[in-house]
Amino acid sequence: MTRIDIIGAGISGLSTAYYLARAFETERERKIEIHVWEKDATPGGLAGTFTTPDFAVEKFYHHIFKRDRDLQQLIADVGLGEDIVWRPAATGAYYFRQPYRLSSPLDLLRFKPLPFFDRLRLGWMAVHARAVKDWRQLDDISCKEYIHRIAGDTVYRVVWEPLFRGKFGAYADSVSAAWLWSKLVDRGGSRNSQGHELLGYLRGGMGRMFEAIVATLQRNGHHLHFGQSVRRLHGTGERITTIETTEGAFPTDAVIGCAQLPELAEILPEQAATYRQALGSIGFLSNVCLVLTLNQSLSDFYWTNVTEPDAPFIGIIEQTKWADSADFHGKHVAYISAYVSPDDPRLNMDGDALLAQYLPAIRKMFPQFSDSMVEAAVVWTAKYAQPIVTVGYRHLVPEIQSPLRNLFVCTMAQIYPHDRQMSNGVALARKTAEIVRQALQAA
Ligand SMILES: Cc1cc2nc3c(=O)[nH]c(=O)nc-3n(C[C@H](O)[C@H](O)[C@H](O)COP(=O)(O)OP(=O)(O)OC[C@H]3O[C@@H](n4cnc5c(N)ncnc54)[C@H](O)[C@@H]3O)c2cc1C
Repeated sequence: MTRIDIIGAGISGLSTAYYLARAFETERERKIEIHVWEKDATPGGLAGTFTTPDFAVEKFYHHIFKRDRDLQQLIADVGLGEDIVWRPAATGAYYFRQPYRLSSPLDLLRFKPLPFFDRLRLGWMAVHARAVKDWRQLDDISCKEYIHRIAGDTVYRVVWEPLFRGKFGAYADSVSAAWLWSKLVDRGGSRNSQGHELLGYLRGGMGRMFEAIVATLQRNGHHLHFGQSVRRLHGTGERITTIETTEGAFPTDAVIGCAQLPELAEILPEQAATYRQALGSIGFLSNVCLVLTLNQSLSDFYWTNVTEPDAPFIGIIEQTKWADSADFHGKHVAYISAYVSPDDPRLNMDGDALLAQYLPAIRKMFPQFSDSMVEAAVVWTAKYAQPIVTVGYRHLVPEIQSPLRNLFVCTMAQIYPHDRQMSNGVALARKTAEIVRQALQAA
């Protein structure tokens, strides 16, 4: 029996386990036993679900794009394909103390903060992006430079710069144009014939898919260890020999690291000092997500980009402006999201304190808001929420096969230039499973 240990039960870890188990199902020569280690009590990582008496929903807002085929296939494979709900989602923007609808090309043409000619130039960006043949050339310039070239200074200053500041903070000016390119190209694929965006969610939350994968793995004799951390990997020469966990130390044949890169760097064995440094060269931003349960709706849109220079958050995502209200028992759910540096004090605040801090901005944006609308406020935080994808990021992305022969790495930071969507994570996991399978066959 070959033992494979997987670190992390987010989408990367669980889908790698799922495809690996499937790949070996029909193997006669070699049988595998997979152990998945997850420090949290429940699966899902960033895409995990929490439940209240009225509904179950993701801790951080998550939707599925039409072109997210790998994820849809995985959901179907575990028997939940019928439960993906597709609904049109209205997008807005809050600029200069005004809300604007920004859901279709027509909305773009009516977008007053930009002079008319610049609205056309903004729309032209998506057309230009789709014509780009090799994204690598864009990875050598910043978004700032690219947008200035394609659409001009006003489009950059009014539309994009505030969004980059909100998402990447001090790194805004050096974000790679390849990252923006993939967003422009991928996003277009989710629109229907009228240009409206159709987004999907799994009824009852993504947690159902994770639980279904866990059940499939367990049924096939594999092992899931929730609430248990991997503390350190040990080895000699080019191999990992032992995995040290909170449950004990175990000999292992192969390890797949599916936690975030800085978390993996911390537990690497002594002999991998250079590799540790390489993994550590990728920086991350954190996310603080305030989830409000409301007795009335807050905004007119599912997704509102907030680009006021003094706003303490970047987006308001009102789940129930898009999802079927029957799934929420009449409650309204809004996420208030901010990307912050990993030492931001908000990462340690509770729901009431964070709401109190955000109240002046919320009241300014939504004059009809009153405190009595809020039934509950909870905060979810993620220290490693977004890799900082600056110019030349492709040179930093680690290979799936690490310099150690039986250590493999599959994390969202390796998804590039495409965004760290769950579906891209599933595709990377399938590739990882195949690489591991081949490596084991060759060993
Ligand atoms: C705010 C936000 C919104 C998003 N919205 C969308 C969206 O709408 N659509 C979409 O497709 N994607 C979205 N994403 C991206 C998506 O959530 C991620 O790409 C995906 O969930 C990453 O999965 P992962 O398994 O790679 O990492 P993670 O989910 O971070 O999983 C890693 C796991 O490893 C565990 N771990 C870490 N260290 C150890 C250790 N030493 N021992 C044991 N376990 C360990 C962690 O607890 C965690 O569960 C969003 C992300 C964020 C932050």
